Amino acid sequence: MAVRAIRGATTIEENTAECITRASVEMIDKIIKKNNLSADDMIDILFTVTPDITAMFPAAAVRKMGITDVPLLDMAAPDIDGALKMCIRVMVHINTDMGNDRMRHVYLNGARKLRPDIAEKSRISVAVDGPAGAGKSSVARAAAQRLGYVYIDTGAMYRTVAVYALENGIDIKAEPEKLVSQLDKIKIDIKYEDGVQRMYLNGADVTGRIRQSDASMGASAVAAIADVRTRLVAMQREMAGDGGVLMDGRDIATAVLPNAELKIYLTASVEERAMRRYREYAEKGAECDYETIKADVIKRDYDDMNRAVSPLRRAEDAVLLDSSALTFEETVDKILEMVKEAEQR
Ligand code: C5P
Repeated sequence: MAVRAIRGATTIEENTAECITRASVEMIDKIIKKNNLSADDMIDILFTVTPDITAMFPAAAVRKMGITDVPLLDMAAPDIDGALKMCIRVMVHINTDMGNDRMRHVYLNGARKLRPDIAEKSRISVAVDGPAGAGKSSVARAAAQRLGYVYIDTGAMYRTVAVYALENGIDIKAEPEKLVSQLDKIKIDIKYEDGVQRMYLNGADVTGRIRQSDASMGASAVAAIADVRTRLVAMQREMAGDGGVLMDGRDIATAVLPNAELKIYLTASVEERAMRRYREYAEKGAECDYETIKADVIKRDYDDMNRAVSPLRRAEDAVLLDSSALTFEETVDKILEMVKEAEQR
């Protein structure tokens, strides 16, 4: 066991007891959660406040959140020219077996700049949209893996609903209301195994089944039904949590995560997308014809871009990434660069 210090800092908008309480509690709560601390691990908590904070002691706020056995202390920071205003800093001493490099320091509300060297990287939400065959899922999955982010393939969810319809003899286009009336019977579970997203439909693993071509065509059809979208979008928002996620689909930037810190519209020319799919089939030894594949790509683009609900379009604030002339690795690298830059903003 060794004594280690976890650092933190935050700022408040107004010198009120309410703002001080909210900011102090948020900071201590994050320090506890990120470092998996219990009250027994903590030796003491020392706060400093800049001279413009006078409405309340942060220690009093933290005592109110139930931390009563740990000694708490407030101190005044010196009045230094150019220092960050309305700033609460903290040092939490703990007993731990972990090395110094495992401590997770918490800098919030613009206080990151005080210690960019130790502040936790902020984990952002990244929306990746684009037409079929642009390579979104393979590229997004690889980027998420390297970032330690969760990758969420939303197309797989529409595909899973399509498989339900196919297995239950529902003609999606002719009787959408029948599918909608059965939505409560469709239980979709998503599990991650070695970074691979596995899809379960009412308990059965349909990860392979959803990639068959009837499920692809069915997915486009179920995706045009407003009630299906409402339900899946709610699930997707919940899954996105508070960041550290790369989500791909058609409407992520425009409808699911309009506040995502980074929005990417990943595309490639129709010819390039058709050629990639053609090579994929050919490698698997499947019979295929380039012109037919190209016609399918054009049809799916048209359907996705022209449906009434949440059509595929580039959000105004989305970065356009055209991968026509890029290799897979180059495309992943570009995304990593953009995420790292957005994390610093
Ligand atoms: O991306 P993927 O090809 O797996 O998506 C299957 C279909 O699901 C798409 O053609 C599209 O119609 C629909 N989809 C959607 N919104 C999403 C993801 C997929 O409408 N966010």
